[in-house]
Amino acid sequence: MGLLFYSTNHKTKPVTLEEAVLTGLPADKGLFMPAHIPRVSATFLQEMSCSSFPELALELARLIFQPEIPERELRSIIETAFNFAVPLVQLDETTFILELFHGPTLAFKDFGARFMAGLMSYLVRKSDHMLTILVATSGDTGSAVANGFLDMPGIQVYILYPQGKITDMQEKQITTLGNNITALEIAGDFDDCQRLTKQAFLDNRLRQKLRLTSANSINISRLIPQSFYYFWAYAQQKSSCDDLLFSVPCGNYGNLTAGLLARRMGLPVSRFIAAANSNAIGPHYLETGKYEPKKAIRTISNAMDVGDPSNFARILDLYDHDIDLIRQDLVGYSFTDEQTKSIMKDVYLRLKYILEPHGATGFLGLLEFQKQNPALQNKPAIVLETAHHAKFCAVVKQVLNIAIEVPIQLQNTIDRKKNSVVLANNYVELHEFLDSTT
Ligand SMILES: *Cc1c(COP(=O)(O)O)cnc(C)c1O
Repeated sequence: MGLLFYSTNHKTKPVTLEEAVLTGLPADKGLFMPAHIPRVSATFLQEMSCSSFPELALELARLIFQPEIPERELRSIIETAFNFAVPLVQLDETTFILELFHGPTLAFKDFGARFMAGLMSYLVRKSDHMLTILVATSGDTGSAVANGFLDMPGIQVYILYPQGKITDMQEKQITTLGNNITALEIAGDFDDCQRLTKQAFLDNRLRQKLRLTSANSINISRLIPQSFYYFWAYAQQKSSCDDLLFSVPCGNYGNLTAGLLARRMGLPVSRFIAAANSNAIGPHYLETGKYEPKKAIRTISNAMDVGDPSNFARILDLYDHDIDLIRQDLVGYSFTDEQTKSIMKDVYLRLKYILEPHGATGFLGLLEFQKQNPALQNKPAIVLETAHHAKFCAVVKQVLNIAIEVPIQLQNTIDRKKNSVVLANNYVELHEFLDSTT
């Protein structure tokens, strides 16, 4: 038996960890979820190791992935993936910022992408068949995935990105690595890139030649490790309060789903706040009970410009589609770019802290929640800051009117030479290119 994963569409049989991770998507087009979510004990929470993030992550990963993945392997995957700091910064008496941007690509996606890379590399080690990863990106995912898989034996990565539609910094991060990472510059937009990768996954002729998998956030092995830092934040803010609030800036709702998983594992969280930009699909659902996908609107928090968030299916499944239960754990608000800019200014002037637009949206979510629930105003609250402000340098500069230091991780890529393969926006070209690589 062991660890099994079922599809949220419930039309296919549960599969093993290996199959869930290496195929990415169930055949019935649902999303994989773990059939069993372990619960931590009260003693675990009290004694939760605070010594380092990797140690805490290992304790949690053991509960989930053993015996499938031996302890020695888990330790090595975790120590390689999480080789950076995860500070919880206190802003005032009750407000904390969980800084998730100290990884190599300066966004929280490093957590999921690097863990997934380690796990996939372990799972393919037994086979002599090369694994080919196709991933479409609107910017941040591509760099996190590329970085996580760089130099991994047995794995080739192809990143499809929309030509001229990502920032120069993001393009540098994707196109300068070389080796087993190939950047495919598509003459189209992000939706075209996503459509082309989907077409490749459905191409049986290609799949007979290439062992293809996806590295987008639909892969369950990217989601699970994101639940670890919710425990870490709890362990860090030592008030041992059982009414913790988390405010999460949401796009595809993967980060939030990981928090809900942590709660299901026994983390005492009183409420999660889903903070969205003008793409208010989640808040709209919480208000009306209707899930209504829309075409995405462009905002300054562009990593959250998602009109049909894929992880929503996981949230609905986790609560058996019972909106009243969902509403007990989750509230949602949406905010305009003007509100986001104004809170960035306010927090900088009042608290000397630089928020970028995604984290600022999370901060707005917390303030709105406190306004509507005055009785809970003094409860400790944690806002997730999902990216380093230098990644969104233009808007931060313009709003705060300050000079911005470029972190070493970004400096390193600026001077490197761009290398990409330019492809037309049609599947024939992508197919020919991939076919020629084998
Ligand atoms: C991807 C991303 C988000 C959205 O996270 P989801 O898990 O898709 O909800 C928020 N902020 C930044 C900086 C991101 O890159």
